[in-house]
Parts: sequence; C-alpha cells; structure tokens
Amino acid sequence: MPFETDDLKYIALENRDPSAEGHFVYCVKSTMICCRPTCYSRLALRRNIAFCKDVKEAMDKNYRPCKRCKPNIETGWNSSREMVIRACSLICRIASNGKKFVLDTLVEELKVSKFHFCRMFKNYTGLTPRQFYLKCKELKENPLKSKPLPIVETKKNLKRKKLLARNTITTECSSRNTLENSEACLSSSDTSSMDASLSSPGSNTEVTNDNESALEDLILQHQYFQEEANKDLEDLNWVDDFIEFLFFA
Ligand SMILES: [Zn+2]
Repeated sequence: MPFETDDLKYIALENRDPSAEGHFVYCVKSTMICCRPTCYSRLALRRNIAFCKDVKEAMDKNYRPCKRCKPNIETGWNSSREMVIRACSLICRIASNGKKFVLDTLVEELKVSKFHFCRMFKNYTGLTPRQFYLKCKELKENPLKSKPLPIVETKKNLKRKKLLARNTITTECSSRNTLENSEACLSSSDTSSMDASLSSPGSNTEVTNDNESALEDLILQHQYFQEEANKDLEDLNWVDDFIEFLFFA
C-alpha cells in the first residue's frame, strides 16, 4: 500500500505529489481544516498536521473541508483540468469537421487568457494545442480516449518532471560528446576537437597554441553560463514555456 507511514505521507505533501490523490487527506490542527494532498495552500508545520483516510473521517473529527482544494467534492473540483478537457473536445470537434485550428477563437470560446490556457494545456496533455489538433487529425478521434488526463497536476510535480527530462538530455548529450571526442582524437581535426574539448574540458584533445587561450575563455564562459543556468533553472523553465507559447502554440 502506497503512503503507508506518516513520513511518506508528509513527503508526498511536500512534493504536492499527484499520485497521493485519493489515498488520504491531511488535517491542520491549528485551523481545523482538511485538505487534499495536492492542495496548493502553504503547507502547515509538521506538528500541526494529522492524516485521515478520507474527508468523511476528517469531518467526523470536526475538520472543515478546504475551500481551495475542495476535498469534499468528487468531481469538478479541479477547474484547470475541466477547462483542458473542454478544450480537448472542442479541438477534436474542429479537427473532425476538417476545420482550420485558430487559437484565438478557441480561447475566446473558453473565456481564458491565451498564455494561461497554453500553459495549462501543456501541463495536462504534454502537448501544445496545435500539436493536439494534429494528433486528433491523425488518430481521427479524441486522444484522451486512450490516455485520460491526470486527476491533478501540480507545479512541483511538473518541475520534477522537467528536471528529470533535462537530466536525461544532459546525459544523452554528454555520452554523445564522449563519442565525438574520441572521434576527434582519432582525426585531430581542429573544429570538431574544439567542440569536443569545450564540452569536456578535461580531455586531452590536441589543440593548436593559437586556439588554446581562446578555448580556455570559451570553457570558462561555458562553465559560467552553466552555473547561472542551474541557479535560475526555475526561471528558465518559465522562459522555455514562454518561448514555446510564442512560437508553437
Ligand atoms: Zn486545501
């Protein structure tokens, strides 16, 4: 059984882990309010938190259901998800009628801001609205039929997924660079060896003296930007989203 101990439950709260949804609710002793594990309210101190099997048990203990995450409601409590589901069926209808997809018309019908919509849509479906439209055309049915949306998606969970994806990409890149590097050693061609030593500064690729100091500068710059990027990872995630919104929505 998942989330068996209170420690595991508390970790799930800290992570706003969507997979904890439905397994338990948590109660805040100081406010006498009970919440879903994914509630985006600020998390109370550990000593003020008690866990209950479900909202009924919590309410029997005189806790009131939170007005934000509405643990007392079974469906329709997650308005973002509802909005995305509605958008998906609208897009699907547009695709099956052979009509052109126009984002502005869609957000007008949904009465939401374009940026917020695109962000939520991507968070829940993993696709931009246009990509979803193309998928509908390709499958000739609503892709949600085979892959329903998650019950809830949280910022923290998305951040974790993005970090994971980023790490996978970095690992893939570095293994590719090692390969390029060894090829460069064999051929000792100057441009590719420059690239290779840039990505792995410790390599013993042959570089001409003229290039050496320029290369050192580049390596330092590269390291600096990498450190800065790590510091601002969250901001960069936001920038990623925005760029994607501008060009691919
Ligand atoms: Zn709540």
